[in-house]
Amino acid sequence: MTRDTRAVIRCSALRDNLALARRAAPASRQLAVIKANAYGHGIVAAARALEAADAFGVACLDEALILREAGIDKPVVLLEGILSAAEIEALRQWRLETVVHHAAQVAMLEQAPAGRPVPVWLKIDTGMHRLGVAPEEAGALYRRLAECPAVRGTPRLMTHLARADERTDPATKRQLRIFDEAIAGLDGERSVANSAGILAWPAAHADWNRPGILLYGVSPFGGEPWPGLAPAMTLHSTLIAVKRLRRGDAIGYGGRFVCPEDMPVGVAAIGYGDGYPRHAPDGTPVLVNGRPAALAGTVSMDMLTLDLRNVPDAVPGDPVTLWGEGLPIETVARHAGTIGYELLCKITPRVRFEYVD
Ligand SMILES: *Cc1c(COP(=O)(O)O)cnc(C)c1O
Repeated sequence: MTRDTRAVIRCSALRDNLALARRAAPASRQLAVIKANAYGHGIVAAARALEAADAFGVACLDEALILREAGIDKPVVLLEGILSAAEIEALRQWRLETVVHHAAQVAMLEQAPAGRPVPVWLKIDTGMHRLGVAPEEAGALYRRLAECPAVRGTPRLMTHLARADERTDPATKRQLRIFDEAIAGLDGERSVANSAGILAWPAAHADWNRPGILLYGVSPFGGEPWPGLAPAMTLHSTLIAVKRLRRGDAIGYGGRFVCPEDMPVGVAAIGYGDGYPRHAPDGTPVLVNGRPAALAGTVSMDMLTLDLRNVPDAVPGDPVTLWGEGLPIETVARHAGTIGYELLCKITPRVRFEYVD
């Protein structure tokens, strides 16, 4: 038998989660965000499962080319924009769209040689203070883009919310107001909402929404799973050893977990070399045979050790679930002091991926 450490991706969950985003904002089109290898799920498989999306968002040209080379011909938007004038040629050749978030990118488009025009999305910084042009520059840059022969049609207008996951925080309302003021009088389709905006801020719904994490069935708010979202990834392994340790025995590197009594301890074939977080503390939940067990001892590269007092009949070969169906990744993330987004992105290529409907 080979090492059975697998991420099972349920394609119907991706479809159903997209449908939930559509029901939450029926008047908006969906730009499905599949950057970072579709948050670790496999970009090509995710794009195929999400064929009902109206467009895809990726971070950069390399990600877009993976989609085009796989024969996916839906609109694709580079969310980080072009990094050099040379990329304009690739946008034209591969019929890609780009965000424009900086005056230098406007100049690159103005200086581009004649050729097929490129659809652009002008990004305005309304408070995230990462990418985007200042609200007071937006009108002038918009007009330059609208007149630029390298730009196709009317530029679209977008912004990104910094705190939409804080459901009562006034920052989101402030960002929406600044966006409205910056684009007053400008034509062009609008886009504001990420997953949290879609689920919690109807005022952020616009011509285009940009769901990311919710497509993968993970709540953008952390905490509890969002009702109706289905986890797309379930991370599995198996027990490769079970032993009875004595009270006082210390487990693993650093002896972090000391057995409080005689107890069964299991070893699962997954570790930080597979992307399981090394900083997960003792007590982080894990399922063994579908029953709750808990991490006990520091995570190793290839293995982790489990307190099996709640599953005393477990034997080597028994199934272990690290997150997904039956164990919300939100719970694991909370224990590990991170967010579901990061756990998903960090799965390494050693993990076998299996796609089921
Ligand atoms: C990643 C990203 C999204 C999706 O965010 P989620 O929180 O995963 O929904 C939307 N818009 C932009 C610009 C992004 O970079």
